[in-house]
Amino acid sequence: MSSKEFRYWGYKTIDWIADYLEKIEQLPVLSQVEPGDIRAKLPETAPQQGESFEKILKDIDEIIVPGLTNWQSPNFFAFFPTGISAPSILGELISAGMGVQGMLWATSPACTELETHVLDWLVDMLGLPSGFKSSTAGGGVIQDSASSAVLVALLAAREQAKADMNKLVAYTSNQAHSSIEKAAKIAGVNRENLRFIEVDTNYAMRSEALKQRITADIKLGLIPFYIAATVGTTSSNAVDPLTEIGAIAQEHNIWLHVDGAMSGTAAICPEFRWIHQGLELADSYCFNPHKWMMTNFDCTCFYVRDRAKLIQALSIMPEYLKNQASASGKVIDYRDWQISLGRRFRSLKLWFVIRHYGIEGLQHYIRKHIAIAQEFTEWVNSHPSFELVVNPPFNLVCFRHRGSDEINQAILNCLNSSGKLYLTSTKLDQKLTLRMSIGQATTEKIHVQQAWQLICQTADAMENQFQ
Ligand code: PLP
Repeated sequence: MSSKEFRYWGYKTIDWIADYLEKIEQLPVLSQVEPGDIRAKLPETAPQQGESFEKILKDIDEIIVPGLTNWQSPNFFAFFPTGISAPSILGELISAGMGVQGMLWATSPACTELETHVLDWLVDMLGLPSGFKSSTAGGGVIQDSASSAVLVALLAAREQAKADMNKLVAYTSNQAHSSIEKAAKIAGVNRENLRFIEVDTNYAMRSEALKQRITADIKLGLIPFYIAATVGTTSSNAVDPLTEIGAIAQEHNIWLHVDGAMSGTAAICPEFRWIHQGLELADSYCFNPHKWMMTNFDCTCFYVRDRAKLIQALSIMPEYLKNQASASGKVIDYRDWQISLGRRFRSLKLWFVIRHYGIEGLQHYIRKHIAIAQEFTEWVNSHPSFELVVNPPFNLVCFRHRGSDEINQAILNCLNSSGKLYLTSTKLDQKLTLRMSIGQATTEKIHVQQAWQLICQTADAMENQFQ
């Protein structure tokens, strides 16, 4: 493609994205295709000769869009938010256009230094412990996902423990995200040596139970080495008590990782900073701007209190990567902070978002979602057929129809097949629970009001069927 053609199709592509986002509310939120429908529209083999870009863009509309679940719809209330924004998309585009590889400082100094700088900004923006700043022994890096962050933290913890793998024991709550179990599996922690600690009535880890379990394991000759706490669990947004968990971790020299995937962003507002109370006791922490900070996937901010421990766990220096800057010890080589060698210029999109919206714009965004979620909570509370399962601290409302799991499932299926909204469920106390996750970039109160109306109408219809 010539530069002239690139400009032409580049403008057309931006137009396509703008058109898609403008009409997204008219598209079904959950894709309505059947398995195999998309592949059936694709040619059996790759084209022998190149095709026109016009045809390729046309196929986006005709083949791809019907198979999209439209995550950016304001009526997307499933799983967790993935709100994107124009500045973030443009940051991604420029990153793709530069096509640099930031594995070493030397392979693109700006890629490393902007990342370090923006992650330092975020420490101040979220009121995180100052020991996470690059001017201290700690520092921050962008990982692709919270799952990778949990894994590299666990690898650093394993390195710190330097003990027989069969004896190492890891701890998390029974509400923690599955990425912790996966990380333990990848790192070779014995399956029976991952403890799922019980939770309290708010689904937060019971620190007393953690303490008892650790004491019992030590008596058995085992070595507790890693605790993964969560601030804002996936199912119900529960916040584990970091101050108490941190004290236990420090007493036994156990690595404490805190997973703030979606909810960590709430701390951009001073009134929600309580979420990180006790975080200064953690060895590592992550949160996902790719969930609730208008930044495109992938963008997980991961911090460590002692970067030397992380680097020790992950650094290998082959001959072909040696260079003067690395040897000088004056630079950060982020390849030593992650699993893969190669890395994209991810900080560009984050930098664009922060500069475009400013701290106040981002605070407004978070406050808006939380305020709408609180109103939704009141509607649930005042409806005779529904009940709130737990008080929502932030933007996720867990609620259910007072009837059986079957009626809740039927309501959910009917809502999702309407294409008008998308909701998902979980199990809390063995009961099917509906999760209203409010946090998409374009979601306004009107969308949540319409969703609530539809939920109530659907429940009415189902009550008749289930009588
Ligand atoms: N941790 C929590 C609490 C989550 O809710 C999620 C995603 O839902 C994850 C981790 C995994 O996030 P990622 O997709 O960034 O690995």
